[in-house]
Amino acid sequence: MSEFDLIRTHFARLGQQRPDVLLGVGDDCALLRVPAGQDLAVSIDTLVAGVHFLTDCDPESLGHKALAVGLSDLAAMGAEPAWATLALTLPPGLPGSQPGWLAGFCRGLGALARQYGVALVGGDTTSGPLSVSIQVHGLVPSGQAVRRSGAAPGDLVCVSGTLGDAGLALRQVLAGEPVAEGLRLRLDRPEPRVALGLALRGIASAMIDCSDGLAADLGHILEASGVGAEIHLGSLPQSKAVAAVGDWSLPLTAGDDYELCFTLPPDRRPVLSRLATAGGVALAVIGQIEQEPGLRCRLPDGTELPLTRTGYDHFAG
Ligand code: ADP
Ligand code: MG
Repeated sequence: MSEFDLIRTHFARLGQQRPDVLLGVGDDCALLRVPAGQDLAVSIDTLVAGVHFLTDCDPESLGHKALAVGLSDLAAMGAEPAWATLALTLPPGLPGSQPGWLAGFCRGLGALARQYGVALVGGDTTSGPLSVSIQVHGLVPSGQAVRRSGAAPGDLVCVSGTLGDAGLALRQVLAGEPVAEGLRLRLDRPEPRVALGLALRGIASAMIDCSDGLAADLGHILEASGVGAEIHLGSLPQSKAVAAVGDWSLPLTAGDDYELCFTLPPDRRPVLSRLATAGGVALAVIGQIEQEPGLRCRLPDGTELPLTRTGYDHFAG
């Protein structure tokens, strides 16, 4: 199969068909119509075999996750997903030796794309070590995107869902231990919190998605906003499996959870239950923003947990 056969067979009509795609896969560029009064939100993520996923991972899960991490970024800005492009680098022998691989990858990618109304409008296909880059494009009413920089002293710090599940699943996979199905899904098929992100527009003062670990990601909000925070570790939402391990590094620094962390002016606390319903996910208040810079993690006994490592950093020694 040639490069062009691959493109025609697998990528030509993937995801949702949308009327705002004036021209999709097949020309030098895609042509997309951004409605008047909307800002375009753009983000790209790369997943590299051996770094972000195991080389022998299930291709359908990889297709899902590669798009999910981008949709999670859109959610964290309060943007509605619209379009995606895909740069795929495949080992030269792969299409021949594993004929089902690309079909599986596209099944995972396509299903999630349709779920969120996303059209795949273009990309690039090359050969080399396996890697997947997806750029996502979303729409947000002009000026209404939720940034990292809006947190103010007194705001509540909130997170969605549970933290540490993906980290625990990865730990078990790497140790060769059996992984419970639900935990495995949290690692392989993260569910981007798109509905919650949209519901938080105009309500959250700052927002980020938890990809590198709560401590690191909340740290980005604190830095961008010029504030600090205290969080109560006993309030961190954890699944039974993670709580049973009793290791704070799982919910705090393991990452790959793709939950949303946001700050909320305290007078908006009463809307939390409505937001949880709109977002289809539980919400927890885990602390508050303070004037003094830095992140302080309070243990259930009232003492402070010293943080040595906040999250995943590709370039940390
Ligand atoms: P060019 O050489 O002009 O950059 P390509 O030959 O790389 O174009 O791609 C041909 C068409 O196929 C383009 O419209 C491109 O966006 C699309 N395309 C290539 N690879 C992919 C892919 N992996 N997913 C989606 N579309 C793709
Ligand atoms: Mg060209």
